[in-house]
Amino acid sequence: MEKRIIRQLTDIVGPENISTTEAELSCASYDGTGREYLPEAVLWPSTVDEVSKIMIISHREGIPVVARGAGSGMTGGALPVRGGLVLAMAKFNRILSIDEANQTAIVEPGVVTGVLQAEARRFGLFYPPDPASLKFCTIGGNVAEGAGGPSAVKYGVTRDYVKGLEVVLADGRVIHTGVRTDKGVVGYDLTRLFVGSEGTLGIITKVILRLIPQPKAKQTFLVLLDSMKEAASLVARVLSRFTPCTLEFMDRTALTIVADQLPMALPDGTDAVLLIELDGTTAAVASEGAELDDYLIGQPGVRLVRQAENQEEVDRLWAARRGVSPAAFSLRPHKMSEDVVVPRTKIPELVACAEGLARDLDLVIFCFGHAGDGNIHVNIMLDRADSRQATNAELAKQRIFARVIELGGTLSGEHGVGITKSSALGMELDQDTIEVMRMIKQTLDPAGSLNPGKIFPQNG
Ligand SMILES: Cc1cc2nc3c(=O)[nH]c(=O)nc-3n(C[C@H](O)[C@H](O)[C@H](O)COP(=O)(O)OP(=O)(O)OC[C@H]3O[C@@H](n4cnc5c(N)ncnc54)[C@H](O)[C@@H]3O)c2cc1C
Repeated sequence: MEKRIIRQLTDIVGPENISTTEAELSCASYDGTGREYLPEAVLWPSTVDEVSKIMIISHREGIPVVARGAGSGMTGGALPVRGGLVLAMAKFNRILSIDEANQTAIVEPGVVTGVLQAEARRFGLFYPPDPASLKFCTIGGNVAEGAGGPSAVKYGVTRDYVKGLEVVLADGRVIHTGVRTDKGVVGYDLTRLFVGSEGTLGIITKVILRLIPQPKAKQTFLVLLDSMKEAASLVARVLSRFTPCTLEFMDRTALTIVADQLPMALPDGTDAVLLIELDGTTAAVASEGAELDDYLIGQPGVRLVRQAENQEEVDRLWAARRGVSPAAFSLRPHKMSEDVVVPRTKIPELVACAEGLARDLDLVIFCFGHAGDGNIHVNIMLDRADSRQATNAELAKQRIFARVIELGGTLSGEHGVGITKSSALGMELDQDTIEVMRMIKQTLDPAGSLNPGKIFPQNG
């Protein structure tokens, strides 16, 4: 990058908030995909004015700009694939207000999701979106990816809690979308446009979030089953009678890799596990919990129903569930993790497809995830150094995507498109729809400086 540009950027953020050292560039070069692309400079702005001035320069000079939260994204959203600037949003880390009476929080995008949840709890309030990465990912990254988690089955995803945004556009203009009130229909719903836009339409500098009352009680059940098929059909039956706040599943391979973290030994023949939680008032949870317990015990394929006895047990169950993804590297050094969604009645067909591909292509493939909303994490484990495995893994991914579309699903429930799914965009969206998306991008970012190389297929 030209020295004069670095000088202008330094004037904006101060010398302590810009770096071109190899070490700092390297720290901003990766994300959860394990891929790496070096930027040319990293900046740590701390005010909207600074972000706006940076965008004016990048727009004028045609320099790529990529916003970065915690870099935990799974599809390459935060990767500076065309070099340029990384805007690390770590200094935008203030919870500006929590309005108890109006159940609203105003936060900066660099706030860590788990920190906001803990702060809301102090006011008796609840911010439900709970990606498994909540201890380190940021609200800005969650909004930009449309993140979700286990609680989505009852409470919805990040999108359902974003009331409004402050966004710096590619040319440096600052806009304010949405409202602070519960209702509001003045003009187009630009808030929804920016949610899930993966940093390609603007830099989010402030987020207005909806909070809800904190549930008073929770019960956690672990259900061991004979087969994935029976687990999936039980999911649909449970959801027709109960309103769980979590309904997660793990298949046999996922269970095996975290077995030592579970609070008890798994009986032989356990092929699938459901993790079910109920929340609400103490009385409601006690009565619905007793009913659920009775119901589960008599269901086909159920080997054991265990209600967590204390918080320690709940924590261990969740540590095991959240630990599946990192623990998977004990199977193979590399992972392709796809967060596809199918109608929940189609889960058995998708899992059968993954099992068939694992057999036919001699790969390790396992599934776990949010059974309640059909959002299944299909994990293809491989060693990229083995060219046969690399080719077969890519083939497996394409066949899984094709099956998901056949089953009426979508290619991403929460991780977004980034670079890892951009070539598959046309499998799900028709050309006219993609064209409208391109037109929006072109209008808001005519120079193409905001997070270039993402979402859209790169071959035109
Ligand atoms: C172990 C693990 C578990 C995970 N579990 C889940 C899960 O359960 N559910 C889930 O949804 N995801 C999950 N993820 C993926 C990831 O944590 C989420 O996508 C998260 O929302 C990314 O947040 P981040 O702060 O790390 O963003 P980053 O990875 O830094 O960035 C993600 C995208 O957001 C954009 N962005 C970041 N900040 C801004 C901003 N201020 N303005 C505009 N654009 C911005 C970036 O440019 C990029 O396109 C998991 C990841 C890991 C590693």
